[in-house]
Amino acid sequence: MTATPHTPGFATRAIHHGYNPAEHHGALVPPVYQSATFAFPSADFGAACFAGEERGYIYTRISNPTLDLLEQRMAVLEGGAGAIAFGSGMGAITATCWTVLQPGDEVITDLTLYGCTFAFFEHGLKRFGVTIRSVDLTRPEALAAAIGPRTRMVYFETPANPNMRLVDVAAVCAIARAHGALTVVDNTYCTPWMQRPLELGADVVVHSATKYLNGHGDVTAGIAVAADAELAGRIRLCGLKDMTGAVLSPQDASLVLRGLKTLSLRMERHCANAAAIADLLASHPEVERVYYPGLPNDPQHTLARRQMSAFGGMLAFELKGGLDAGRRFLDALQLVTRAVSLGDAETLVQHPATMTHSTYTAEERAAALISDGLVRLSAGLEEIDDLLADLAQALDAAAGQDGRELTRHAA
Ligand SMILES: *Cc1c(COP(=O)(O)O)cnc(C)c1O
Repeated sequence: MTATPHTPGFATRAIHHGYNPAEHHGALVPPVYQSATFAFPSADFGAACFAGEERGYIYTRISNPTLDLLEQRMAVLEGGAGAIAFGSGMGAITATCWTVLQPGDEVITDLTLYGCTFAFFEHGLKRFGVTIRSVDLTRPEALAAAIGPRTRMVYFETPANPNMRLVDVAAVCAIARAHGALTVVDNTYCTPWMQRPLELGADVVVHSATKYLNGHGDVTAGIAVAADAELAGRIRLCGLKDMTGAVLSPQDASLVLRGLKTLSLRMERHCANAAAIADLLASHPEVERVYYPGLPNDPQHTLARRQMSAFGGMLAFELKGGLDAGRRFLDALQLVTRAVSLGDAETLVQHPATMTHSTYTAEERAAALISDGLVRLSAGLEEIDDLLADLAQALDAAAGQDGRELTRHAA
């Protein structure tokens, strides 16, 4: 009798995939190959590695055994043919673009993008003869109307940072593919634990591994995962090796590998805490609007249920008192931390208009549907009762009678 083939589940692969302790003196934890270069056993072998005829390590900016393991693990978790690790999420995003785009090409993006991604496209790539068009990708029919023969790439985040807009991944990928354009999805907010865009038709998934994948706020890292092995190879040899050099250090790769081991557990808690915080905000009289796809009355709740297996740890909201109330709210927090970044054990809040998305001009921000009063929150892993108590007292402080008077005078 032969055993039926069994595909290990997500958490098992996140802990074990691609590593066998027996091949490493029994070391349970993968060793850190803290080496920039690799010795060739002969001149011919070295030349053959460079010619691509032998599979051997050459130099860490091309590949390294510790980075390799992280890349293999992320490729299997996202369901891709190959992955490339980077020193930051922006490294992964820019290297993917430099690999694929030529002067004269057009990129279609959603209206809302993470601040530095927006700056790269709008204030960076445009200078090199690439046309950037922002289109409301929450309406696939708008993409169908806008896409043309010069469109080489469709790029979006879902949910988008910071305003939680969702894009129908399968619908957008189908339109892009029919027109010969690549779809690149920033999956930082979801991680492959709750959304796998490559399975829905995307060509490349990019990540800021600084966020949930590492999960402990002590590393900046990025990953690109391609559905196609040939494209993954080009992103490595062109985008990583030559165009950006945005290599991840082996030490930091081992920290991301450690983070991945607990990704499933952490995501469950992030999601549960975010859902409870969304409920508190939605029922508080000082809150104007909550953006969280897990709320049953959220306009994109049905789409979220279709393409995500959970609703995530991120949310955004607006206070009735606008920007001034937001400032009072942030300053009144005692446990919840005022900081950018997300996906850490600590619950973090920040103000996109003056912080992560200040790369936009005021006009650009308005076009991107990021209001001045929007507050972004990354639900951490603390005890939910402690978080709710702190948030409730800060909301009360934001609504304080004195504050209201001050706002009126200022206005
Ligand atoms: C943080 C972030 C990035 C950039 O990643 P870095 O690791 O900071 O370079 C890109 N996209 C999204 C959605 C992010 O949140």
